[in-house]
Amino acid sequence: MSLYDVTIIGGGPAGLTAGIYAARAALKTLLLEMGMPGGLAASTEFIENYPGFAKGVGGPELMMQMDAQARRFGTEMQSATAESIEAGEDYFTINTDEGVITTKTVILATGAQPQKLNVPGEEEFHGRGVSYCATCDGAFFKDKEVAVVGGGDSAIEEALYLTKFASKVHIIHRRGELRATKILQRRAMDNQKIILHWNSVVEKVSGEATVNEITVKDVHSEETRPLAVNGIFVYVGTRPVSDLVAELIELDEQGYIIADENMHTSRQGIFAAGDIRQKILRQVVTAVADGALAAVSAEKYIENHKKS
Ligand code: NAP
Repeated sequence: MSLYDVTIIGGGPAGLTAGIYAARAALKTLLLEMGMPGGLAASTEFIENYPGFAKGVGGPELMMQMDAQARRFGTEMQSATAESIEAGEDYFTINTDEGVITTKTVILATGAQPQKLNVPGEEEFHGRGVSYCATCDGAFFKDKEVAVVGGGDSAIEEALYLTKFASKVHIIHRRGELRATKILQRRAMDNQKIILHWNSVVEKVSGEATVNEITVKDVHSEETRPLAVNGIFVYVGTRPVSDLVAELIELDEQGYIIADENMHTSRQGIFAAGDIRQKILRQVVTAVADGALAAVSAEKYIENHKKS
């Protein structure tokens, strides 16, 4: 069984960048990804604020480039789900659905997953009108009315994207002001196809074969009203994917990993990078910076723990 210097769990911007840096440092590097590489950034239609692209860049395109770059320097990629990590005296053992991996260091870059609304009908109609990815499913709603739930950057960006297809995009937001960046707010207000439903929450998703209605509640009056839509896109934040290490390292009360500015976690030899970390700005630009630092910290750790 081969021994890796660095095993990265998660193939989003943080994990792929860690792969680029670790492999370029001539470390034997493995990246485990349970789905398609690219993470949430790969399901973002367009990224406007990643430096170096004056006109913006497609999320899938940017992530394909990072993936190719990591492979070019020799990062091995394996499609597998990490199921548990055991800390031994000298090495870590990672049990996956594809076998056991031994590694000197681990970089956790498992990111965050879309948060669900947890309302009746959401699960039942998932894939039949309920979606968490406008980039993936938006084109199915040509000339149809859709709803977007949430008021953050994701909700507003994706609502704007959906106006390319849909005849109307209803934004359902639980407060009277948006959380999204001002430039996105302005674009949403100026877009004729967008209708904002303030102080409103979705109570229920209904339909037959596919979604045809949602029930919207005014949070102040508690009155409910039906809204006829064919699709509902949920963007109410994300939750960390950290169950794997809950017993192993320190997490905050929301489940994000606590790591220092050089990506050290509470356990020596395990580093964290990207959206999985407790931090104030979860974006591609901060994820890639974390990934680079985590790889360099792993390199230093291996150097300091060399058996003479
Ligand atoms: P977010 O910033 O956490 O916003 C979540 C939104 O959903 C908030 O408006 C929140 O309302 C609402 N919400 C939360 N729980 C809800 C519930 N149960 N029912 C109804 N509404 C609910 O999440 P995000 O928009 O996914 O963004 C995640 C991170 O990625 C952020 O740091 C964001 O800046 C970043 N991001 C950046 C870009 C970009 O810069 N291009 C694009 C996408 C995402 P309240 O406002 O009332 O809390």
